Amino acid sequence: TQSIWSAASGLLARLEEAGHEAYYVGGCVRDRLLGRPVHDIDIATSARPEQVMALFERTVPTGLQHGTVTVLLEGGLSFEVTTFRVESEYADFRRPKSVQFISDLTEDLRRRDFTINAMAMDRSERVIDPFGGERDLRDRVLRCVGDPAERFAEDALRMLRCIRFSCRYGLAVEERTWNAVLEHAPKLAHVAMERVQAELEKTLEGPDPRRGVRLLARSGLPRHMKEPFGVGEQEWQRLAEDQEAVPDLSRLSSPAARWASLWRLLKAGPEEAQTAMTRLRFSRDKLRSVRAVLDFGREVEGLSRLLDARGTEAGRVKWTEAALRWGRSASAAWLEMAALDASLASDDPTPEDSWNRLLSLAPEWTESVRVWSRESLGIDGLSLAREAGRKPGPWLRETLDRLWLEAALGRIGNTPEALLEAFRRMERSAERRL
Ligand code: ATP
Ligand code: MG
Repeated sequence: TQSIWSAASGLLARLEEAGHEAYYVGGCVRDRLLGRPVHDIDIATSARPEQVMALFERTVPTGLQHGTVTVLLEGGLSFEVTTFRVESEYADFRRPKSVQFISDLTEDLRRRDFTINAMAMDRSERVIDPFGGERDLRDRVLRCVGDPAERFAEDALRMLRCIRFSCRYGLAVEERTWNAVLEHAPKLAHVAMERVQAELEKTLEGPDPRRGVRLLARSGLPRHMKEPFGVGEQEWQRLAEDQEAVPDLSRLSSPAARWASLWRLLKAGPEEAQTAMTRLRFSRDKLRSVRAVLDFGREVEGLSRLLDARGTEAGRVKWTEAALRWGRSASAAWLEMAALDASLASDDPTPEDSWNRLLSLAPEWTESVRVWSRESLGIDGLSLAREAGRKPGPWLRETLDRLWLEAALGRIGNTPEALLEAFRRMERSAERRL
């Protein structure tokens, strides 16, 4: 981090030598005051974009209409340098239509969302803090710059940012700010789902997702999406009233487990969750990984009953089959999620024995899986077809899957010889049945 600050300092010096004002601004100042690692430094300047571009060798006109130029320095570091500006013409409670360049830093800070995000720092590390951000950080309070109602009406996304920053830094939302969220929640319907998703993602995947879900439920914001989730309306209401019902999602290590857990909390099945995630513009990979957890869950749901009725080995086979189908990470994520649910229900006077037994056996079952992918099976389809003297066809895939399961369970070795032998045995018993 030292090098990023010294590089940025050189950049400020260059702008100042050319007669402009320049400051570190926004998140980097906040994180620096908190003693947190700073990964990127935003710079605000009185220089116009074309002046910034003229001063530095390598620049990219990242967002000229917003006054932003990216300056690339040696060593691969880059900084966004944005001309002081005010935003005008907020259209329909979303981002402004146009911006106006100005010469005054304080006015630039005034357009920012929260006091903790509206601080600047000069090259000698003097903090410029016209709205009391430092005090709010110290008191652990999140507060809008200016009149919260106006600020949320200008850009409704700020209500979700409010929840995100409250969770990230453990800040209490100041009363007027929170009341304005409650009042203006319906305006979220004007905000693009992509922006909504980015905030929800950072909230749920951040350090305090439980607080995030609680605040979301209480805010009423989920009811007012531009494209409604289509599920969970009553569940959000229930969570708003019974905040203890929200489990500590921070104990789930993967994003997929956290999202899957949220959808379960909202009583959304795999298909409903998929619809909601499509509306939220989830990336394909993330959607698929969350869906896999839910599908895996649906497949192993009845497993504790199976354990009671038919014993451990039957349970292991079923578990392994599902784990191979939906993948190792889906099974691990589901297990984390189920364990969390069980711990939440632990004040239940009669914890369900068979369920606990399942949860204690499943990690061993997962450990004991020998072959995690069809590709690492010791024989490939073509060799198998050749050995069998048959043309490849649907039978081949089925046969490979059966061999794969047997090898994964450790019932047969994962060598070509062992797999072929198992295959011949399978064929003979099929013939006998005919
Ligand atoms: P992060 O560490 O998440 O990047 P950040 O504070 O840098 O936090 P950004 O979303 O990158 O947040 O925005 C940079 C700065 O721009 C903020 O600190 C804030 O001053 C301002 N800002 C960003 N979005 C808005 C908005 N919707 N309304 C008002 N100000 C905003
Ligand atoms: Mg940032």
